[in-house]
Amino acid sequence: NRYLTVKHHIHGLPSRLDFELRSAPLTLTIPPGSEDVIVKNLFVSIDPYQINRMKVHNSSQKTADFARQLHPGQRIDSFGVGRVVASGNAEFKKDELVVGLLGWEEYTAVRPGTMLTKIDSNMDFPLSYHVSILGSSGLTAYAGFYEVCDPKEGEKVFVSAACGSVGHLVGQFAKQSGCYVVGCAGSKKKVELLKEKLGFDDAFNYKEETDLRSALKRYFPDGIDIYFDNVGAEMLEAAVANMNAFGRVALCGAISQYTDAGKQAAPDMLDIIYKRITIRGFLAYDHLSIYHDFVSATSDHIRHGRMQSLEDVSHGLESVPSAFAGLFRGDNVGKKLVQLADI
Ligand code: NDP
Repeated sequence: NRYLTVKHHIHGLPSRLDFELRSAPLTLTIPPGSEDVIVKNLFVSIDPYQINRMKVHNSSQKTADFARQLHPGQRIDSFGVGRVVASGNAEFKKDELVVGLLGWEEYTAVRPGTMLTKIDSNMDFPLSYHVSILGSSGLTAYAGFYEVCDPKEGEKVFVSAACGSVGHLVGQFAKQSGCYVVGCAGSKKKVELLKEKLGFDDAFNYKEETDLRSALKRYFPDGIDIYFDNVGAEMLEAAVANMNAFGRVALCGAISQYTDAGKQAAPDMLDIIYKRITIRGFLAYDHLSIYHDFVSATSDHIRHGRMQSLEDVSHGLESVPSAFAGLFRGDNVGKKLVQLADI
């Protein structure tokens, strides 16, 4: 079984050279009494949060299980979809398709208690959708937008990293709810996609703006009601400065801070108080209770052509490190996935 690991803890921006491929013997026989499920991994998710697991951690940091620190030499778990090749668990049978916490490796032995769900064989969507629009990215966008931002028709919504995995779905949910949506992204191509393919009302390239506050003032002359923050730092400060009274900010991620330890967001506190802005961090993982509602609503949007999944797929386990490093350069257009094997 070939698997990826980090060579050392990572400081700053990751590079493909921070990773190495190793291999270990794999047995497809489940010992008596074991409830392990062995999965052949087909698509693995490439997510920015993984960089935070690869750094040296401060011992007081509390993290969810899927986000715990990774040490050099350890296999790297990650969301993905795969096919069961052997099972000691009565719930999962050989050849069934599953989604859950798998890994950047060819096969994963999934221990009891690890997130793993069967894919409904009646669902006729591409398999990759179960890690993108109908998977963890979709749930993040849906839970963050509906549960944290509490949108109302006609409200003005700003989304950062808008052409990324979560961002492009947030904008589409917001359009379905009758909001006015502007996204920012880091290239002309992404800005065009947002406006021409994904139905955003407007979009801009933040790398071409010298003053983010005045850029947002231009795009939102009447202020922002909801900001879905994927990047943190200066963008968060500029958005807060342009928020309306009783605005809501969903802190989904802070990618611009992940690789720059000195960078912090310092939004104007008095402004937040006087405008009674709610700023709330969230983890998709805490909203699993709405998973079925999310899948049903989103499947319906896809079937009726009201939403689409933008995916950026590389091939082969060897391509995972550069796919991952590319997230921090903005190389990905939509959800970054790596296909490890034929379906
Ligand atoms: P994306 O697909 O959006 O990929 C990352 C994108 O971020 C890049 O394509 C790039 O786009 C942008 N980016 C990279 N570096 C910077 C920077 N320094 N400043 C501004 N933008 C930058 O990733 P995801 O959609 O998977 O994740 C988006 C955010 O949501 C991340 O912060 C992630 O950690 C968080 N997240 C949170 C979850 C939760 O439960 N709270 C769950 C999943 C994700 P561009 O070209 O626009 O620069």
